[in-house]
Amino acid sequence: MQKDERLECLLNPESIAVIGASDNPEKLGYVIVNNIKESGFKGKIYPINPKVESILGINCYKSIKDVPDEVEIAEIVIPAKAVAGAMRECGEKGVKVVIVISSGFGEVGNKEMEKELVDICKKYNMRLIGPNVFGISNTISSCNATFGTKLPFKGETAFISQSGALGLALTDWTHIERVGLAYMFSIGNMADACQGDLIEVLADDENTKTICQYIEGVHNGRRFFEICKEASKIKPIVALKAGKSSRGEKAAASHTGSLAGASRIYEAAFKQSGVIEANSIRDMFYISLALSKQPPMRGDNLVILTNGGGAGVCATDAAERYGIPIGDISNELQSEFKKWMPEFGSAKNPVDLTGMATFKEYDGALRSALNNREVDGIIVVVCRTAVADPTSIANGIIESSKNSDKPITVSFIGGEDCAEAMNFLKENGVPAYSDPAEAVRAMAALREYGRYLERKEESFNPYSDVDKKKVREIISSTDGKAIVEHRAKEIFSAYGIKTPEEKVAKNAEEAERIASEIGYPVVMKIVSKDILHKSDAKAVKVNVKGGEVKETFEEIVKNAKAYKSDAEIEGVLVQEMAPSGRETIVGSLYDPQFGPCIMFGLGGIFVEVLKDVVFRLAPISKEEAKEMMKEIKGYPILKGVRGESSVDFDALADAVSRISQLVNDFPEIKEIDANPIFAYEKGYMVADARIILK
Ligand code: ADP
Ligand code: MG
Repeated sequence: MQKDERLECLLNPESIAVIGASDNPEKLGYVIVNNIKESGFKGKIYPINPKVESILGINCYKSIKDVPDEVEIAEIVIPAKAVAGAMRECGEKGVKVVIVISSGFGEVGNKEMEKELVDICKKYNMRLIGPNVFGISNTISSCNATFGTKLPFKGETAFISQSGALGLALTDWTHIERVGLAYMFSIGNMADACQGDLIEVLADDENTKTICQYIEGVHNGRRFFEICKEASKIKPIVALKAGKSSRGEKAAASHTGSLAGASRIYEAAFKQSGVIEANSIRDMFYISLALSKQPPMRGDNLVILTNGGGAGVCATDAAERYGIPIGDISNELQSEFKKWMPEFGSAKNPVDLTGMATFKEYDGALRSALNNREVDGIIVVVCRTAVADPTSIANGIIESSKNSDKPITVSFIGGEDCAEAMNFLKENGVPAYSDPAEAVRAMAALREYGRYLERKEESFNPYSDVDKKKVREIISSTDGKAIVEHRAKEIFSAYGIKTPEEKVAKNAEEAERIASEIGYPVVMKIVSKDILHKSDAKAVKVNVKGGEVKETFEEIVKNAKAYKSDAEIEGVLVQEMAPSGRETIVGSLYDPQFGPCIMFGLGGIFVEVLKDVVFRLAPISKEEAKEMMKEIKGYPILKGVRGESSVDFDALADAVSRISQLVNDFPEIKEIDANPIFAYEKGYMVADARIILK
């Protein structure tokens, strides 16, 4: 991966200066120096303060420029106004990374001041973390350069937090939960370095097994997406996206716009780039724990081993909920399991070793599962009984896990000795949780990552049979922002998308002539850039037969005028009537962060109620388009229910992929709605389309 080598010193710092160091224990400048020292940092610490001789027995310098040796990292904790000056000195000193803890910049509206910091970085070839951060924690180098209480519990997850307080508060929690971290970075305002920069560095770092991040927003969504996509191939990335509900919905002129919302686009970006999305802080750390300790699950066959029927059922339910439903196991494997249970046990999945199970039965059954080729992942659930000794069972699991390339997650249900045994498991590479559902959730994350690694990358090959010139012509000749249906369809047609035969009539006689050319029955619709939702104006008539055209023409124009008296009316579109099919919608929107996105879903008038749509960042291949189709809830409808045959997925996917290329080629397109597109057993028909320009 590409990376900025200047940022690498964060992983293994040799020297840190603290500008604004203080000998007053109540000041952050004191706390930080004390924390670095007390955490056992082996590198050099340089407190900087013109008024103090020494802090905690460490020689203090008047300016960073007075430090006799090289300084890699400078943490700045002085009032915002003075930061720029201090940064210039850092620049002259040749510092690689400046971490600005001070707040009072962009987050309170002082954008200019923040920009000045970025300019200084550029001038002196430095990188900036922050401003408005809590510093960095590094358990690999034993360096707590924050104003938190201590280092997090040591582990193999790198945590990037956009919230300072949250990161700090979680430090103590990592000790209670034994959820270890290698590094904790607070990135604050991200004036310069943002998530992507750190991910690039962490992707190559051998101490980092998993990257997890708390995200409020990203600055350059496309770049973030591209970086995650590459980094996910090397190691798993987990993200908790906050603020999903708060974004004020923009006024949406299209169905697609109203269906999108920031969260759907983030979801799409995560999914496409292999980022596993967490839904709470705890979830984020719990799945990161599993991903950092266990191999990905390379297949769908999950086995649950338990000594309690109830716990087994809970785990089974959770498995279905998290998308890794358990299946039947072969007779051979069942007879293997039978060796480890009494007569009344159940060798079917979930495997019930019964309340009589001791270490021996668990150990034997786990080994049988690990050695069996049909098993891809195992969840061990233990309910504490007098004979189920948590310590010995935990020991056995650790031993088995060491020699296995299949993932194991564990849940011990019980009291203190179970909690202790689980801590022991976690410290020895096996993720364990007090609720079986959490063990299942962790396994589901391991499976999700496995699927990402397995999926064959279908890179997008642009279609060459497209007429960009024609599209450009239509766009540039459009007056206003809305491109009406027949013009939008000309654009589609230029991109190889099938559209019905149609023509605009200026008057009723012309309408009749066109209708008889097309053949009856026809569909007639108003053409006006001021009426985008034509049905709302009662200005769409389907199934118009011979002899009805003239009268329908007049009616449509009358209805349109009644709906919007000042609407500019171009005429009435006379269109081939499409046979009815299954209604789908394809849309696009231009997200301010992620750029062009494409949407697919079940169409028709209920689309906004059912919201059965999925998004992807455009462009996408035909294969990816088919994946989208499988993801909607209504997929079985498209596949055909009650004897109905399947729609032509291939043709439909071709249309989706072509539209995704169109929006990628023309960033001036803000939104597209093609609703409905009738999907047939053979082919499809775009019955309606509109395009909105930026
Ligand atoms: P609106 O601007 O209201 O979305 P549409 O062009 O989508 O108008 O037409 C409304 C409905 O009429 C469509 O949802 C579809 O069911 C039907 N319809 C439109 N065009 C055709 C057509 N060419 N063939 C068959 N049905 C059509
Ligand atoms: Mg429509």
